[in-house]
Amino acid sequence: MASAIEIRKYDAIVIGGGGAGLRAALQLADSGLSVAVLSKVFPTRSHTVAAQGGIAASLGNVGEDNWHWHMYDTIKGSDYLGDQDAIEFMCKNAAEAIYELEHFGMPFDRLENGKIFQRPFGGMSKKYGAESVARTCAVADRTGHAMLHTLYQRNVYAKTDFLIEWFALDLIRDAEGDVLGVTAMEIETGQIFALHAKSTMFATGGAGRIFQASTNAFINTGDGLGMAARAGVPLQDMEFWQFHPTGVAGAGVLITEGARGEGGYLVNAEGERFMERYAPNAKDLASRDVVSRAIATEVKAGRGVGIDGQAVLLKLDHLSEKVIDTRLPGIRNIAIKFANVDPVHSPIPVVPTVHYMMGGIPTNLNGQVIDNEKVVNGLYAIGECACVSVHGANRLGSNSLLDLMVFGRAAGNHTVETLKGFSHKPLPADFADQTLSRLDRLDHQKSGEVVAEVGDAMRRTMQVHCGVFRFPDLMSKGVREIMQIEERIKSLEIKDKSKVFNTARVEALELENLIEVAKATMVSAEARQESRGAHCREDFAARDDEQWLKHSLHYREGNRLAYKPVRLKPLTVDSFPLIARTY
Ligand SMILES: Cc1cc2nc3c(=O)[nH]c(=O)nc-3n(C[C@H](O)[C@H](O)[C@H](O)COP(=O)(O)OP(=O)(O)OC[C@H]3O[C@@H](n4cnc5c(N)ncnc54)[C@H](O)[C@@H]3O)c2cc1C
Repeated sequence: MASAIEIRKYDAIVIGGGGAGLRAALQLADSGLSVAVLSKVFPTRSHTVAAQGGIAASLGNVGEDNWHWHMYDTIKGSDYLGDQDAIEFMCKNAAEAIYELEHFGMPFDRLENGKIFQRPFGGMSKKYGAESVARTCAVADRTGHAMLHTLYQRNVYAKTDFLIEWFALDLIRDAEGDVLGVTAMEIETGQIFALHAKSTMFATGGAGRIFQASTNAFINTGDGLGMAARAGVPLQDMEFWQFHPTGVAGAGVLITEGARGEGGYLVNAEGERFMERYAPNAKDLASRDVVSRAIATEVKAGRGVGIDGQAVLLKLDHLSEKVIDTRLPGIRNIAIKFANVDPVHSPIPVVPTVHYMMGGIPTNLNGQVIDNEKVVNGLYAIGECACVSVHGANRLGSNSLLDLMVFGRAAGNHTVETLKGFSHKPLPADFADQTLSRLDRLDHQKSGEVVAEVGDAMRRTMQVHCGVFRFPDLMSKGVREIMQIEERIKSLEIKDKSKVFNTARVEALELENLIEVAKATMVSAEARQESRGAHCREDFAARDDEQWLKHSLHYREGNRLAYKPVRLKPLTVDSFPLIARTY
């Protein structure tokens, strides 16, 4: 069967043309390697394009700042689950990452003195939590858009090969467990290929589409995680999902934290600025888990607004029209289009909405995938699909774009070094069997399940059973439901069997990936008996460092969980002691 498949050879393939994939690809192409970037959508449509608020770095352009403070904030924000060596690496390299982007041509907003503009963001402080700091570099409220276009153009210049609207299907591993590339489908023709590579890099982004209400693009379906799980690689810390406090009520579209950074604040139905009660110091700029829980508590206490009293209001109308139009033009547009209010005159109804996956494919600082303390040869993961882990149990706003740049570059550099004098290992005889049998089943299934219906059932279950607050009975029921939904996914049926640009087939394959993410999330969440960062349990309200200062690893086979220690030793600076939550 496999002989019908066309094989293409590259030194390196990068699956994903978002910020992480493009940053890594640039490093590879600039070094003269043959590199292909695969993307299921045109690269500049990747979810990175939607990033609004900005990218963090302690440049100190608006008052004093340094990377030790950024590191402290990130560790504390992660509720101590972040690996401190990785966090040090990221914060220390942040300024360089920004200047690189500047030199690539990224049009950052400027201060009067010509330096890069910076705005305050949640959880970012100076002098180890003493006061708020402006650390987030931005291009108005379209930072990701500017970043992605800048990197795409640099890649075109560097002659990166783009395979656009190609869908990666499965990892190819040989008997020794080494990764030798992926199988993939060209969506336009439906033809299946094997991409045979010395190095395979996942940069497939997030998976927020396992939930019903999400700020994520429809393409964020966790394909890299699904491929990794099917190939026996564990998924790390999947119980930690960030709910962004300000998604437009009813639509889920994001209102950046930058809106509060510019001086916006939240009020309840009584007009009270309630964050003053929950976080007297940081107030509306407390970290996202804190603000999301505060909103959920206000709603539960009957102080919400809108349909079923599920929302609270984000007030921007005290800022001038000029500030809104220069710093938050996209937000004004979104509010008018999706909430039917003009923030210059009226507050925007908002609800906590799933936003970011802290967990992912476990890696080391070079982006190499790690299973059971050992490197999986030939496989890298970077960006939101990876868990290095710099965000731990809760990511600080504007640290993701930074993660993409720092670890995209590091993984690119490491690949270049590793591939020197390295030749392709031969493909095993059964390299396409898994893929072909999956596609074959889909093509021949009769009287099966409808993709949209099963997908909806999965999203509903995740939303109800694994939300902002987690209840023990709901979670155990959620695990059972997700396992039943997995059974239904085994008999998905597509009516349209045609080859050419068959989006029904793509959606079915995406659902097979989503369910891997949903399973890992439910099972890991039910098992973790504490509250930490974004994982907030009703029955275990406190953080429990004695029992649970450890990373979870979910293995697909047998839904097995394993744990590994958090790396509390930074690279050079002293470790930061564990402290209680004090916002
Ligand atoms: C609305 C929104 C606003 C945000 N704002 C900010 C912000 O201001 N600051 C910040 O730091 N973070 C922000 N974030 C988070 C941040 O933008 C993301 O974490 C980050 O952009 C993810 O980048 P990535 O390169 O990992 O993946 P993405 O940009 O999501 O790219 C994934 C790529 O993988 C490709 N792909 C996926 N599966 C396949 C497959 N099977 N085959 C082929 N290709 C595939 C896709 O086509 C795409 O090119 C925001 C997120 C959202 C949703």
